[in-house]
Amino acid sequence: MNFLRTRRVIEADVCIIGSGITAAMVAHKLGRQRGTKIIVIEAGDDVPPLHQRTALRERFMAYDENPWPNDHLDGYEIDGPLQSRSMGVGGLAMHWGGVTPRFSPEDFKLKSLYGVGHDWPITYDDLDPHYLEAEQVMGIAGEQGPPEMDPRGKPFPLPALPLTYNLEQLKGWASKAGIAMWSQPSAKNSRPYDGRAQCCRNDTCSPICPIGAKYSPDFTWNRLVREKRAELHTRTMVRRLDVDDRGRVTRAVAARRDAPNTEIEYRAKTFVVAGGYVWSSHLLLSSRDAKRPQGLANSSGLVGKYLCGHRNVQAFVSLPMKLYPGINEQHSLVTKQFMRVPRRADGKYLRHDLRIWESSSGQGARLRDDAGNLMLGDDILKDWRKRTETGVARVRAYYDVIPDKSSELTLDATKKNAWGDPLPKLAFRDAPESVALRSWSEDQLRALFERMAKAGGGTVLRSSVDNFQDHPAGGCRMGNDPATSVTDSWGRTHDHENLFVVGAPTCVTASSCNATLTFCALSLRSAEQIAKSV
Ligand SMILES: Cc1cc2nc3c(=O)[nH]c(=O)nc-3n(C[C@H](O)[C@H](O)[C@H](O)COP(=O)(O)OP(=O)(O)OC[C@H]3O[C@@H](n4cnc5c(N)ncnc54)[C@H](O)[C@@H]3O)c2cc1C
Ligand code: SF4
Repeated sequence: MNFLRTRRVIEADVCIIGSGITAAMVAHKLGRQRGTKIIVIEAGDDVPPLHQRTALRERFMAYDENPWPNDHLDGYEIDGPLQSRSMGVGGLAMHWGGVTPRFSPEDFKLKSLYGVGHDWPITYDDLDPHYLEAEQVMGIAGEQGPPEMDPRGKPFPLPALPLTYNLEQLKGWASKAGIAMWSQPSAKNSRPYDGRAQCCRNDTCSPICPIGAKYSPDFTWNRLVREKRAELHTRTMVRRLDVDDRGRVTRAVAARRDAPNTEIEYRAKTFVVAGGYVWSSHLLLSSRDAKRPQGLANSSGLVGKYLCGHRNVQAFVSLPMKLYPGINEQHSLVTKQFMRVPRRADGKYLRHDLRIWESSSGQGARLRDDAGNLMLGDDILKDWRKRTETGVARVRAYYDVIPDKSSELTLDATKKNAWGDPLPKLAFRDAPESVALRSWSEDQLRALFERMAKAGGGTVLRSSVDNFQDHPAGGCRMGNDPATSVTDSWGRTHDHENLFVVGAPTCVTASSCNATLTFCALSLRSAEQIAKSV
């Protein structure tokens, strides 16, 4: 189907495709270079401005109304586990929790250290300055953990969010179990920062922070647009990239959602694909032509392959301690103790993070007792008081899953968008080593939770495994060898000198902790190289 009739041409030095958090990092860095014309193209809509968010939150509370209207595109329902359907200015990070740990040094050397997966072409030390840069852009509030577990070149830009009374108690419990824990780093202002308010820690972040204390990419876009350092073109879908005989990308071909019959041709010296783990590979595959039937940047055949993420095991633990649930419930303790482990003598492989939260699970007032008998009046209060003499903790460990090559994004011939372009299809698959270790790994984690409960004189109430892979990444993995990777360590595609892919898609493996800070650090590292090309 081809119903495009008119054409506009727009020129820039750098054309960034997508306006999520990784695109915001690249534009932030390039935007410092005066005289560079940066155009950012976003398929989705703009988001409500900060001054409307208190009212949006109120309507959410009163009427259960979505405070983020139009944050996804109709007609883009795809097959496979999608982290979120959000497509709009700021991308998924308009809804994120702002949890921002770094990977650990081992994550970049899995093959060398443990004999599983693949090594990255960069080390933790290469990324350390870019981690710091990302932490500064977002204003990360963090506590330095024990340096042997939590290495970093420089201190966090903001002091840690203080631990609540509950987390202080739970930290003592973890310590009895021999686990050193500290405050999870967060993209929430522990003091006013960069023109944004201090987080008041009253836990209304989900689904909207009404005061802008949590970093989201719209703040970067507002500034760049206001200062005329970048142009943001919304409601505009890039459908394909075209390449000349020398392999240089010459144009991004796009269409506006509200003027679908007009083709817009973006010409630029450099093109940056920042569409996240789904749409980056999708755009490269969709840009196939007679010369490149496999799509762009795909001489290795690896575009869309090695999608990665981590699974988790979680449990609720009853503890003989008085807790007061509801004090900033989403903030947690974290440790990297189990990410920094040596190779096991038995050849098995398990690395994971560990977090502890207060929980109100089973702690609310109720009308019926355990036997199902109706309670009335003072009996309700008596029962409630009795049950809250003990506290409940939630514990969760993300563990490392090694991706298989067939963990992949492909084009779905059966589902098409309004222009007739195939939508993507996703399938996450573990490498054989992770398939073999899965039930053993999950048993190990359940046994750890049992040991922790015992150390605190408590019991595990229940445990569960989330079957999806969180913080998905991959699809255009980086490497030094063009035969086994899509980009170099800077995100420059091996096949096309002026085409970069940034952030999540370039990851080789997904570590075992929240990964967006790493996507941002990688994007800032890419931006350093992109700046040299314009
Ligand atoms: C509810 C929720 C909570 C989360 N909490 C955390 C957390 O606490 N910590 C953490 O580390 N991570 C968290 N995440 C994950 C985090 O939000 C993502 O990893 C991150 O936002 C991904 O950013 P990105 O730039 O890679 O891609 P995206 O956010 O997906 O942005 C890509 C953008 O590009 C646009 N686009 C794509 N293709 C095209 C095209 N062809 N033309 C035009 N535009 C295009 C899309 O519309 C989209 O807006 C959370 C995610 C969700 C959904
Ligand atoms: S706790 Fe409140 S102020 Fe802090 S980030 Fe969440 S919603 Fe914003």
